[in-house]
Amino acid sequence: MKQAAYDLTTELVHHSYQPPADFVSLLPPVHKASTVVFPNVAAMRERRWLDKSSYTYGLHGTPTTYQLEERLCTLEGGKQCLLVPSGLAAIASVSLSLLKAGDEVLIPDNAYGPNKSLTEAELVQWGITHAYYDPMNVADLAARITKRTRLVWIEAPGSVSMEFPDLPALVALCRERGVISALDNTWGAGLAFKPFDLDGDGSHRLGVDVSVHALTKYPSGGGDVLMGSVMTVNQALHMRLKLTHMRLGFGVSGNDSETVLRSLPSIALRYRAHDQGARELARWLQQQPAVAQVLHPALPESPGHAHWAKLCGAANGGQGAAAGLFSVVIDPRHSQAQVDVLCDSLRLFKLGYSWGGPVSLVVPYEIETMRARPVPQLQPGTVVRFNIGLEAVEDLRADLAQALAKAFG
Ligand SMILES: *Cc1c(COP(=O)(O)O)cnc(C)c1O
Repeated sequence: MKQAAYDLTTELVHHSYQPPADFVSLLPPVHKASTVVFPNVAAMRERRWLDKSSYTYGLHGTPTTYQLEERLCTLEGGKQCLLVPSGLAAIASVSLSLLKAGDEVLIPDNAYGPNKSLTEAELVQWGITHAYYDPMNVADLAARITKRTRLVWIEAPGSVSMEFPDLPALVALCRERGVISALDNTWGAGLAFKPFDLDGDGSHRLGVDVSVHALTKYPSGGGDVLMGSVMTVNQALHMRLKLTHMRLGFGVSGNDSETVLRSLPSIALRYRAHDQGARELARWLQQQPAVAQVLHPALPESPGHAHWAKLCGAANGGQGAAAGLFSVVIDPRHSQAQVDVLCDSLRLFKLGYSWGGPVSLVVPYEIETMRARPVPQLQPGTVVRFNIGLEAVEDLRADLAQALAKAFG
């Protein structure tokens, strides 16, 4: 045994034992750091934070976060990626980075609710104005773009009401008018379509400028991690976003990154399983008398189905790709109280926000309170959204059947 040169407490901090090098296992190691150590002062002075050629501080990247960023680039077909503590933080960092006082941001009226709250309550304090456009009407977006418009948010499909827009047309319009397009790509997850290659032919002629992804959903897949990403293909745009990201102090933990790295290899299999279960149950719900409308972009009766078919229809050997998420409109002859009984009576479906994990979830929504304008493509009634987990479809169908019977007789 080595003679101890220091006090025991010092020895336990600066221990001399080094494990043998060349340990190889199957998963990337978890590196956890605030402080990153430099070999000498010269290296410290020359620290490079602009790219992934070295390390400067835990907040700005470790081998674990770099690997996650690169694998996410592969998933979505991007070139640069920034990790943030949540999907909402990804949205916030894009808006805060690209907008300044006097600018205007355009948001689809069916956007993820917290993006609207951020814009209405926070961005407004920075002198940034906003307007809501109808995502199902490209001409409406065209009419709302002004000289002050700097950023257009897009969702495909919209949150809760699930209308699928003509995404390539919306992006082409932004290109034409010189406005940055930012897609919330959480639903597509890099699997239903390629956000930076909307023609799908590898040409990259048409693509969004920024893709944000709530990794909380399918990349995590467990309902146990919150994380987001901001992806680009243009280095100059990436650097603008990266500087804001650094100045705001956004970063993610090594343990959370490891959880997502461990889930990524199964994301395509899980996505397909969620998709299959959701489509079966959505079709079954279409036949139930209490249900006035099913909102699922892969169903021909759903708003924007033709746009979905064009963009996502070729995947899965022609079956198309869609997430495990859909909503139903309960016929207005049934009261809100009855809809509450439906949700409370479900046993396998849990009441809770978020989606993308193994447990099926249900949330009732009051859609009128969420929209700036009426939504003609939706039937009147109460909207209920389902996230289909990985339980057996037969069990979920039986659960829905007993809850429907209890609520509507
Ligand atoms: C969940 C979600 C987000 C936000 O993700 P968090 O990690 O929960 O902040 C953003 N956009 C969409 C479409 C989502 O479903």
